[in-house]
Amino acid sequence: MDWCRGHVIGHGSSASVSVAVSNCSGDVFAVKSAELSQSGWLQKEGEILSTLDCPQIVAYKGCDSTTENNKIMFNLMMEYVKGGTIGDAIRKHGDHNRLQESMIIRYTKQIVKGLDYLHSIGIVHCDIKPSNILLAENGDVKIADFGCAKRLNKADDKVVIGGTPLFMAPEVVRGEEQSFPADIWALGCTLIEMATGRSSWSHLMTTTTSPTYVLYKIALSGESPNIPEFLSDQAKDFLDKCFRRDPKQRWASKQLMEHPFLKEFDAIDMKQSQEFDVTSPTSILDHEMWNSEEESVTSSSDSIIQECLDNSPMQRIKKLSMNSEVANWTWEESWVTIRTNESKTSRVGGDGGEKLIIRSSSVGYFNNNAGCYTSDSCSF
Ligand code: ATP
Repeated sequence: MDWCRGHVIGHGSSASVSVAVSNCSGDVFAVKSAELSQSGWLQKEGEILSTLDCPQIVAYKGCDSTTENNKIMFNLMMEYVKGGTIGDAIRKHGDHNRLQESMIIRYTKQIVKGLDYLHSIGIVHCDIKPSNILLAENGDVKIADFGCAKRLNKADDKVVIGGTPLFMAPEVVRGEEQSFPADIWALGCTLIEMATGRSSWSHLMTTTTSPTYVLYKIALSGESPNIPEFLSDQAKDFLDKCFRRDPKQRWASKQLMEHPFLKEFDAIDMKQSQEFDVTSPTSILDHEMWNSEEESVTSSSDSIIQECLDNSPMQRIKKLSMNSEVANWTWEESWVTIRTNESKTSRVGGDGGEKLIIRSSSVGYFNNNAGCYTSDSCSF
């Protein structure tokens, strides 16, 4: 397809997403690009996306490569979803303006539908979080970013782990498995962020604790995220089903679709629940958390953790936290997606055989409105 790249609409940690227009049809779409030499994961994302067909999942439009500024780029073309992400909507509301429960239900219901479709065809998304859920202008939800997604292959006994640490289920942080229930845990974390404007583990994230401590709690403590008191009983029960620490006890997407939390509100008048405008993402530079100190304190809990570091799950936790390159770890957006090297795999407990690819996301939101990107051929 002959097309023309427009301005940047989003940055991931190793790809940029621009708006683009087809020179033939004039159709507008989104293009996610990375240098060809580092685009293995983006090509894999394209392969998976090209097989999907679901209204709750961003639609695939094709792949190609281009030469821009003397670099060969791999491009994944997809439907352009105009309304920002759920992460943008949450940030716009801030800590004191959490999303209304009716809106949370609307979004959650669509995410569950999308997950149910994926799980029914054997795909685990592995990186469900607010910044990977796109919003159309009419409030429809589209699951995006399949860079960590995988097809479950029963014959394959190797465990490949990816995702964003704060959204990882206990069994994922421990390096044991990452299957359908891991997406359900991440869904629960996403719901908590919609409801509170904060991470599900924010009560543990202070300047006197460390990322290792939080990951230790997720992996080994037996604790689940705190469920906000102000939510309805149905919402609390729904979260309880998402946060079962044993993945076998966690509810599947099919069961969740029948849960009263999603069922009861089928007849909601959505005009009433359109209580915010999702079209213009705000900068997280405004957020008060950016004024807090960088993580510098080693808590006493860290020394306890240090004693356990010979233990394989603990080594994994340490690696996850150390490699996160977190400047201000108490702000959840500082945590980035981690993907295992495609050619290698991690084993249960980790044996150092995997290479964690840590992609810094700290520049992403600063650049959301960074102006036009000009390709060799044209710009608009
Ligand atoms: P991450 O580092 O979070 O994993 P990534 O490099 O995989 O990111 P995406 O999450 O796919 O990149 O996209 C980055 C941002 O670009 C999104 O948060 C969103 O703001 C924007 N974006 C991505 N795809 C689209 C799309 N199809 N339409 C509109 N905006 C999009």
